[in-house]
Amino acid sequence: MSILAWIEEQRKLKLLKNPKPAATSTETGQGLWTRCDNCGVILYIKHLKENQRVCFGCGYHLQMNSNERIHSLVDQGTWRPLDELLSPCDPLEFRDQKNYTERLKEAQERTGLQDAIQTGTGLLDDIPVALGVMDFHFMGGSMGSVVGEKITRLIEYATQNGLPLILVCASGGARMQEGIFSLMQMAKISAALQVHQNEANLVYISVLTSPTTGGVTASFAMLGDFIFAEPKALIGFAGRRVIEQTLQEKLPDDFQTAEYLLHHGLIDLIVPRSFLKQALAETLTLAKGAPFQEIGKIPYGVEFPMNLIDQENWNRFIQTPTSYDDFVQNFEALLKTQENIQSGESTQILKNVKDNAETTTGSNPILWYSEYKDGNTNDVTFLNR
Ligand SMILES: [Zn+2]
Repeated sequence: MSILAWIEEQRKLKLLKNPKPAATSTETGQGLWTRCDNCGVILYIKHLKENQRVCFGCGYHLQMNSNERIHSLVDQGTWRPLDELLSPCDPLEFRDQKNYTERLKEAQERTGLQDAIQTGTGLLDDIPVALGVMDFHFMGGSMGSVVGEKITRLIEYATQNGLPLILVCASGGARMQEGIFSLMQMAKISAALQVHQNEANLVYISVLTSPTTGGVTASFAMLGDFIFAEPKALIGFAGRRVIEQTLQEKLPDDFQTAEYLLHHGLIDLIVPRSFLKQALAETLTLAKGAPFQEIGKIPYGVEFPMNLIDQENWNRFIQTPTSYDDFVQNFEALLKTQENIQSGESTQILKNVKDNAETTTGSNPILWYSEYKDGNTNDVTFLNR
């Protein structure tokens, strides 16, 4: 059973336990009333929205859509969306009961979104932030290639512009209709986050709302420098039933709730919705003065424009050259095998390489070689961006 089906079943079970008053059935149809998923109290939607979709009866946090969330977090009139027109396609021509394209079209018409996330920039209590908000109402907030790409672009934008990043997660996990294309987003986003957090030293706060499950939990949701969650939010990887059946034991009632995870050290803070903006603003203010933050193009990793075979050859030929003569000997031998260059030419090439490269890449001969390769071949660059 999928996580989504499980959530739906839990909701139905709760409704059965708290029978619905007969009078409200017609109003629900008109979209004026709704009922609390937790205590079953009937709520007037207009008032509920004003209360940020927090139940008046029990304080339970009902699901918010992405527009409401952005409205509640971003200062009025400062929201600037990014990549609004990025739309999903159907690479696998996936079909279950319905075609994937039909499901997409239906979800797009119902929500007015292209996919299950909105990204952009705005001011949060006058602090510029890059914000991504997932929308559970679009196919269960599932992460397909568009969601992954939008998040990655947002992170890269934030890195370039030195912005702190906030991602509000609400997702059933990776989108099964896109198969491996959705799974690879996990690695892609994590790689972009690595640069944002550890090379540019910028802050990333992930806000987990109910439900955050599957591939989202297994990637960016748990990578925040600070991980906030809403009270009683369902946060997990596999569904409760799957785990129970695998382990053959009963799990505690509060298993996979925010409170349970806080107790076990997986998240940092549980913040009620009414305080969320303030908590984010205060955390960002605190992080603003952090040292070593970098803005702009961030170099990262080891940038060798070599393929792996070249690298291996290079490692064997050159045992950490310490002097120029040392380098010449090894490099000449390497050039002869690698580049089909005759010995007469190689001396001149070496001189050119050294003259050109030393000024741009410093005194490390290994970098000279990479500079030379960079300028002379069209090799696939492996570790290069
Ligand atoms: Zn309630």
